Amino acid sequence: MKNNFHEIVLTSEAAIASDTLGSSLVGFISALPESVLNDTVAKIIFRVSSNADGTVKRAPYGLSKVEAKLKSLGYNVSIVSPYELNMSIGPNTKLVGIYTMDGMGYSYGSGITYWMLKLAGIKYSGLPFIAKSFRRVLETLNNSPYRSNFKIVVGGPASWQIYDSGLQKELGVDYVFEGEFEKDGPAFIEGILHGVKMPERFHARPASIEDIVPITTPSNGGLVEVTRGCGRGCAFCTPNLSGMIRSIPFEIIEKEIEVNILKGNLKDINLHSEEYFRYGANGIDPNPEKVMKLTEMAYKTVKRFGSENTISTDFTTAAVVVQNPSLVKSVAEYINEGGRKTFIEMGIETASSKLIEKYMRGKVLPYRPIQYPDIVVQAVGILNDNNWFVVGTMIINFPGETDDDIIANLELLDKLKDLKVVTFPLPLIPVAAFRKKGFTALDEMLEDPLRKEFILKALIKAFDSLKETTKMVVDNVRNPLIRYLMYRFGLFSLEKVKKRYENQLSILKSGYNEVITS
Ligand code: SF4
Repeated sequence: MKNNFHEIVLTSEAAIASDTLGSSLVGFISALPESVLNDTVAKIIFRVSSNADGTVKRAPYGLSKVEAKLKSLGYNVSIVSPYELNMSIGPNTKLVGIYTMDGMGYSYGSGITYWMLKLAGIKYSGLPFIAKSFRRVLETLNNSPYRSNFKIVVGGPASWQIYDSGLQKELGVDYVFEGEFEKDGPAFIEGILHGVKMPERFHARPASIEDIVPITTPSNGGLVEVTRGCGRGCAFCTPNLSGMIRSIPFEIIEKEIEVNILKGNLKDINLHSEEYFRYGANGIDPNPEKVMKLTEMAYKTVKRFGSENTISTDFTTAAVVVQNPSLVKSVAEYINEGGRKTFIEMGIETASSKLIEKYMRGKVLPYRPIQYPDIVVQAVGILNDNNWFVVGTMIINFPGETDDDIIANLELLDKLKDLKVVTFPLPLIPVAAFRKKGFTALDEMLEDPLRKEFILKALIKAFDSLKETTKMVVDNVRNPLIRYLMYRFGLFSLEKVKKRYENQLSILKSGYNEVITS
């Protein structure tokens, strides 16, 4: 029988390898800990479909990009399911690359999930599933009979967590690769394959457009990258490392759309960008003509393969929306055609002009930090008017943050109350604190009444908005029965949990009143 062993094997934690029943939005469940998400349910939700030769049918986009680059250079490489690693690793395997989005569970997503459960009185114990599934991949690899033949490299947006955790050696990870793959990655891999000792933590430079090649393995969620980097340089964000915004040429975008539809059987193509409305821009100002050309090209391409196919996009800033509302309207005529509703993420982060000035001056350009709360309100309104439902994250625990900054956030929440925006409160936790205290670092933020009030109010607003969008979240789940059950369960849990937050808020308020009247 022909074996399926490869010289380079690529994989990822199961939570990320899976397309979560067809709806990437359901993927947020991966932040739930062991006390809530048991293994049997996790296996159903985080299934990974494979081809007869052991390669996956769809993969996380970043992993497909790495595979495409290596294949274009003639390497023997494949992406395999984390559940079937032993079938693809053999005596000739020299390198296994793991793509991670939250391998140690240090992300904002794991942090907010901790708050959500804790404030709802639900027991939190064990690792988030995403981190647990990362450790399982490592266990399988470290116990492989061929372990001494291959090196383990961890890459992806959360690879820094492995190094910063101080556990790289203990986890058996030979190398941590940070940054974009296409420019420096191939030489790094070549060095390892030839037995050269490379730096244990490797920082790669941003790729040039000429280095980037189209994917050949379809991507989970139908992702097709249209820009890379954003150039706004926020201090707390990974894409700021990528430097200026780079726009991907049409030929690559078109090929990737085709791969996703024809090979991946995907119907909705997510035109991934940190800032869609700045496609083709040279500086901060958008280039409406280029954005419209891209939108029309992508729309026509998906429709060539079926009138039911759609396009969507994932991120924007508030500033660019307010700068050019007519561009937003024109793009919506394609993405949200016929009144279709989609999500878009717009990091609000903070309403404090002091913190904006200090950590994210570029985010609000061409406006001034003092104008930002109004820009946010206007942007959400414009997006809502054009059928976008906004996911607006707000971060607390910035170094130097004071009560006045939280009060500014509370005032902004109040201004957003009638708009369709899911306001997720996120904790900024220095890794050193995480290492020392784990999730209990998050309890300290809940001990501060003002911060607790903000977190509760943001969650109540978020859950209110989510109730209106439960159908959108589960819409792409392939199996109709599972889709229906998830919808009913989603509505029921949102209402129940929201009531608990409201209850907590009134206890907090009565505590305030007692202090005032005593
Ligand atoms: S604007 Fe968004 S993507 Fe760009 S650096 Fe800031 S947070 Fe990151």
